[in-house]
Order: sequence, then structure tokens, then C-alpha cells
Amino acid sequence: MALIVQKYGGTSVADIDRIKAVAMRAVETAKQGNKVIVVVSAMSGETDKLTAFAHDITGRPDEREMDMLLSSGERVTSSLMAMAIMELGYGSISLTGRQVGIITDSSHTKAMIESIGSDRLKEALDENKIPVVAGFQGINELSDVTTLGRGGSDTTAVAIAAALNADICEIYTDVEGVYTADPRLVPDTRKMERISYDEMLEMASLGAKVLHERAVEFAKKYNVPLVVRSSFNNAPGTLVTKEDGDMEKSVVTGVAHNKNQARITIMGIPDRPGIAAAIFDDIAKANLNVDMIVQNISVSDNATDLSFTVSKAESEKALEITQKVSDKLNAKGVDMNKDVAKVSIVGVGMQSHFGVAAQMFDVLSKNGINIMMISTSEIKVSCVIDVGQVDAAVQALHDSFELAKQ
Ligand code: ADP
Ligand code: ASP
Ligand code: MG
Repeated sequence: MALIVQKYGGTSVADIDRIKAVAMRAVETAKQGNKVIVVVSAMSGETDKLTAFAHDITGRPDEREMDMLLSSGERVTSSLMAMAIMELGYGSISLTGRQVGIITDSSHTKAMIESIGSDRLKEALDENKIPVVAGFQGINELSDVTTLGRGGSDTTAVAIAAALNADICEIYTDVEGVYTADPRLVPDTRKMERISYDEMLEMASLGAKVLHERAVEFAKKYNVPLVVRSSFNNAPGTLVTKEDGDMEKSVVTGVAHNKNQARITIMGIPDRPGIAAAIFDDIAKANLNVDMIVQNISVSDNATDLSFTVSKAESEKALEITQKVSDKLNAKGVDMNKDVAKVSIVGVGMQSHFGVAAQMFDVLSKNGINIMMISTSEIKVSCVIDVGQVDAAVQALHDSFELAKQ
């Protein structure tokens, strides 16, 4: 008998028929002699709808209230799913993050899980029930509801799988697995049979939203075998696992992109020690995540420009803080560009190959795509470009690195 955690994303539970179909899949898995825990997302579009309601009231909604609001979406699905499972003659119980004992830090709207209780889940399993957990949420030490960031139900599932030492965590979604690029963007993209935790971690952090980055981090840390597959058919999915000798040996394994980016530039800052520290200290204190940073060398007037990227969602808050820092430093001014995106190539094979970055820059240039910022690590190269050119960039890079071929 295996313990299987099954997570179903928004499109997999988009309406009542889908919820019934998913309930059937969970019950079948249980009837094959397994213990099953289901984790659900909000019905597709629900989180966006609730977010839009908040923005109809205020430009900058209070984050604690956002968490109260958004956590309701997953609650709705979990109770409906429990009813659908019971209707099939199987025991079930819906549980919120609080009821499962998912304790997080207090970073509202992007909280990190600190611990998980297992008693309530074990009790349900011992009673032969299929517990249905509302994903994406927990509570902080004040018992206030927190959420884990967009896409965070994946993380709920993997964290539960780790806490209960599950045999496998299955992430059911609307594509058949992890592909060499977003299948909605590149028609000849190829499904991978397996991908290493490290490569998946890079892909997820660079925008491949098929898995939440923190979910992959948990899976890697606790060695949880993860399978990404479709809830719409029975095709085998992609196994995310430890790197081994059988894995594909290609230099570049995938292309990822992220359109949820904004670039902020402070112009004419005095070029002296301590300036970058002054800027990023204030930003860090506001709990904002900065991604790429580029500082120009001052050539003549001992003044320099500094640019950095943040997510679009955090850009207004970041702009406000940067404006204050800029005034304090007597800089010339601040500029924000929301029409930017990041395109990246990922692959562990890059570590031992020269010329991969050069090939990427060449492809972008041949396609008339201007690079605004660059960042590299051992297993990835990322470029910030105009958002209008990102689809073409992903396709061109996919072609150039021949990712459609095995
Ligand atoms: P869910 O609601 O099931 O959590 P998401 O929308 O969060 O689903 O994630 C699935 C989507 O991820 C796919 O529909 C696809 O467009 C997108 N995606 C981006 N990059 C990739 C990739 N490399 N492989 C598979 N899907 C990807
Ligand atoms: N409902 C949340 C979102 O849309 C969490 C999730 O689906 O994983 O981001
Ligand atoms: Mg998702």
C-alpha cells in the first residue's frame, strides 16, 4: 500500500463536472489499495476574480486582508470535492490549512511554511477517508490566515508529502508534464520524461509556472518524488527527481520566460561606496524580492545609473521606496518600465560547455531583440528584453538549441 498525495490545479477543478471527475480519480486510486490525500486549488479564474474585487476597492489592498480573501477560493473547492468523494460512497473530510496545522511565517501573500502537523491527516487516513486539503494557505503564529504566493498549492502538496513521508506526490494540471518550453507558446515543444530537481528549480524560478518554486525546493530537500501529469487523460507525466546517469545529456534542457517583471532605474546616483547597500537595505526591509541588478560604471561625472527588476505585483511598492531613497541620495530621478520580460535558458550541461551564452545572445540579436540586462549562473543564462518580443525569443531559442529533438 502506498501513500499518494494528489494535487489538482485550477483548471482540473474548474467546474462541478471537473470536480466529479477528479473525485473519481482519487477514489479509484484509493480503491487500488492506496492511501490518498488530495490537495486542491481554487476553481480556475477564482483567485484572479477575488484579486480584481480587491483592486476595485483600493490600489494597494492590505496584505492580511488579501490573504483572508484569497484563501476562501481553495476552501470552496475542498468542501465541494469532499462532497463529491462522499457521493461516490467513499469517506472524505475537507481541511483548511489551519486544520492541517500548516504554520507559516507572517509574510502575508508570500508566506513560507515553517511546520506541518500530521495528526489530523493521519486520523482521517486511519478512518479510511480521503482528506481534501485546501491548498495555498496556512496560519501564522497569531493564527492569522496566510497564503503561499500564486501557484502555492503545489507547495502545500509537496510539504504534506514530505511531512507524511508519502511515496509520491502527483501534481495534476492542464498539460501532460514538464516541457522544454511553455507548450502554450511553442507548438513543437517536447515533454520530458524526467528532469532533475536542480533544473526544475531553475525552470520554476525563471517563470515556468507548471510548478511553484518552493514546491520544488521542498521536494529536493526531502527527496519527495514528484510527478507532473494531466488530470484530463492518463498519459504518463514527467518525473522530477534526483539527477542520475540516465538523464538527458543535452547542454540546454529548457527555455523559460516570465512576463511578470518590471525594471526600475535610479539615474544619476553619486558613485561612492555604500550606495547600493543604502538602496537595497530599504527594499529588503519592505520584504520585496529583487531579482537582477545592473550598475553602470560612471565614466565622467562620478554619477552612475542602477537598474533592478522586481515582479510586476511588487513594482508599485518598490517604486515608492526607490523614489524616497533617490531623494535621500540626491539622485537625478527614478524610471520604471513595466513592458519588460525575462527569457532564460536552463541546463546542467552548461557547466562544462563554452559558448552557450554567446549562442543565446547571437540568436536574440539575429531576431532583432535588444537585451537590456543579463544574468548568469552555472546552469542558466537570463536576459531581460521587451515584453512584446518574448514569444518570438522563446521560439527562436527553442529552435536554435534544437530542443524539439530528443
Ligand atoms: P495549475 O492551475 O494546474 O496549477 P498552472 O497554470 O499553474 O496550472 O501551470 C500549468 C501551466 O504552466 C501550463 O498550462 C503551461 O502553460 C505553463 N507552463 C509554463 N512553462 C511550462 C513548461 N516548461 N512545461 C509545462 N507547462 C509550462
Ligand atoms: N489559487 C492560487 C493561484 O491561483 C494557488 C494555486 O492555484 O496554486 O495562484
Ligand atoms: Mg499552478
